[in-house]
Amino acid sequence: MSIRTIKTLCLFCGSSDGYSKSYKDGALNLAKTMIERNISLVYGGGGKGLMGTVSKAVYGKVPNVIGIIPEKLYESVRYLDHYEDDLVIVKDMHERKAEMYARSDAFVAMPGGVGTVEEFMEAYTWLHLGYHNKPIGLINIDGYFDHLLLFLNHCVDQGFLREEFFKALCVAPDSDRLLDMLEHVSLALPSKFH
Ligand code: AMP
Repeated sequence: MSIRTIKTLCLFCGSSDGYSKSYKDGALNLAKTMIERNISLVYGGGGKGLMGTVSKAVYGKVPNVIGIIPEKLYESVRYLDHYEDDLVIVKDMHERKAEMYARSDAFVAMPGGVGTVEEFMEAYTWLHLGYHNKPIGLINIDGYFDHLLLFLNHCVDQGFLREEFFKALCVAPDSDRLLDMLEHVSLALPSKFH
């Protein structure tokens, strides 16, 4: 039995497509899983890269697609080709993340660049610090996040990351398996502070 129901997923992923076709296929696969499970999307807004692929594919087929974009980004890109029920324009990146966190039940990162990794790392850190208690996972398409996972293992080995927190991170090669993990993972974590 699931521990939780995920109604809205916050997605961090590339504003580019990447070189391998697997990434776009993975994005379409996540969209299919969300449609099958009737899960709404919260993401960075816009129609670029993998972000655009997922939002376009789920738009009109899940209850809600919400893009959350800071003023500066909204002004610097042309928002012609985007698919959202609601585009929320916020003051800055901090407000954006606060909005994304408040509106979602779980976080998922799929392949992307520094923006994706930064967003993922912050949501993961906030779980450690007890600012939220929502599951977080990586769709590790073709082992894209293997180096990051090696680094996190290194943090555990060197005494900078508690093993329980590392184990709380869900990792799967595809979205269906990841969603199952996010629904079942126990987040009864010890306080980071003792
Ligand atoms: P990156 O992985 O560096 O491509 O950055 C992707 C992440 O940063 C996304 O999850 C977005 O939240 C944010 N982001 C980067 N570029 C854009 C953009 N042009 N429009 C909207 N969000 C963006």
